[in-house]
Order: sequence, then C-alpha cells, then structure tokens
Amino acid sequence: MKFGNFEILSIVENSFKIDGGAMYGVVPKIIWQKFNPPDHNNLVKLDINLLLIKTDGENILIDAGIGDALSERQKKMFGIEKRSDLEKKLSEYRLTPEDIHLVLLTHLHADHAGGVIKLDKDETKRPRFPNARHVVQFKEWEEAMHPDERTSATYFTSNLKILEEEKLLELIDGEDEVATGIKLTNTGGHTPGHQAVLIEDGDNKILWPGDIIPSTHHLRIPYVASVDLFPRETMEQKKKFLKMCSDDGWVLAFDHDLKVKLGKLEEKEGGIKVTDIFC
Ligand SMILES: [Zn+2]
Repeated sequence: MKFGNFEILSIVENSFKIDGGAMYGVVPKIIWQKFNPPDHNNLVKLDINLLLIKTDGENILIDAGIGDALSERQKKMFGIEKRSDLEKKLSEYRLTPEDIHLVLLTHLHADHAGGVIKLDKDETKRPRFPNARHVVQFKEWEEAMHPDERTSATYFTSNLKILEEEKLLELIDGEDEVATGIKLTNTGGHTPGHQAVLIEDGDNKILWPGDIIPSTHHLRIPYVASVDLFPRETMEQKKKFLKMCSDDGWVLAFDHDLKVKLGKLEEKEGGIKVTDIFC
C-alpha cells in the first residue's frame, strides 16, 4: 500500500503460542478466554507481524520474527508449527533477505529478533540479513547480553552476538531518525530498552508501538502482559500513544494481532473502534 512517500507491506512471519495469563496480565481468564480461547495447555495463539517499508531505494524491516534457527526444544517452547514465511513473502515483492538495508528491532525477545539469524545448509548460524544495519537500543542490547533468571528464556543471547561479530549491529540511545521520516523512540515498559517506530510523511503517520500495544485487545489500559518488566510504564506509554492516535490521526500497528495488522482508531461510546487498513 502506498502511504505518502512510503510503500508499506504487512508480513505475517509465523505464529506462536504463549500462556494466556502471560499475555493478558491481571485480566481474569474468564474475560480473555472469550476473545482468545486457549488450548488444553492454556496457551493462546498469536501472529508475529512485521512491516516492510520501501522508501528512497531502501528496504526497511520492522522486527525480524522468530526465524528458523530454533532447536527442537525452542520450537516446542514457543509452539512453532511451521517454517518462517518471511522469505516467501519477500519474494512476492521480488526481494530476498539480502535486499534488506535496515532492520529496526523493537526489542530482542525471541519472537522479534530470533529471525535475525538463519541456519545454513551445514547448520552454521549466519546473519539472515547480511547487508542490513540492525538498529537496537543500547539498553536492550545490555539486557539481552546479561539476562537474569526472569528473562534468560526470552533472549537467544549467543545468536544475537553473531550480529556484533559480523559488525551488523547499530546501537542507539533514546530517540533517533534512522531514515527520512522514520524515527525510533525508547519506551521502556515491556523491557527497559524497548522502542517504538514512528513513520511519518505529512499527514501519513503510522505508529508501531511494538509490545506496548501488541493486539487490539491491549488497547484497554490495564491489559498489560505479565511478562512486561515495568507494567506501569507500559500503561503510561499506551495512554500517550492512544492520545497521539486520537489527536493527530496516527494509524496504529499491532505486532501480535491475529486479524488487524494496522488500524485507524475512533473513540466510540463504550470503547475504541478499530478500522482495519489492509496492506
Ligand atoms: Zn512480542
């Protein structure tokens, strides 16, 4: 879809499963199970949504998905049932991972950054986007390199180090305009170094809040995943982002929604109405 100076394309990289309680936090199961019914292990399905932006001859990817460089144990842990669809989707736009110039990583959890690494035919791990700068907040890199007992299962630390070894890593601190009209900003909340992406050309504005608002259900303020390290920060950021959407017309992207990938918000009696924007 053409969006101002940008061409934007939504990509569903894969799906995974997570404990429903982990996804909806303090919200009781009796409520969330109505809109996202869990399986017999209490797991709910989520999509892994990415965004491809084409601008000024550059191909920019927001997040990299979970990828295919997972052990059998990791596949089981994340409920991965098939291979990543990224290469297939890129080929529909006549692109390969080698054509990606910039990968903007909201954070380094496995479902967002596992896909920066691929397995070669001889099972060697290599960068999946060998020609891309991978932009990460400095704080997030520190967190991923030194995870603790609570966070270690969500970071593929040794895989991520390959980016540094191959000199494909670019660390930023706070706010940065990485391409014309594309800004990154540190949000905290989900992780200390979590970042949102703001894509703007005149009146055409897309906000990618990452895991601060992962699905349309998380538009409600107290719907905060229990995996968030700083849930009150998540709530504050969410309020700020929702105000931007209602005051300034930002289109909101959802990185884990099963149906709506990008939506326009409208305040309605009793809640927020989301209109799907297909791209
Ligand atoms: Zn996520």
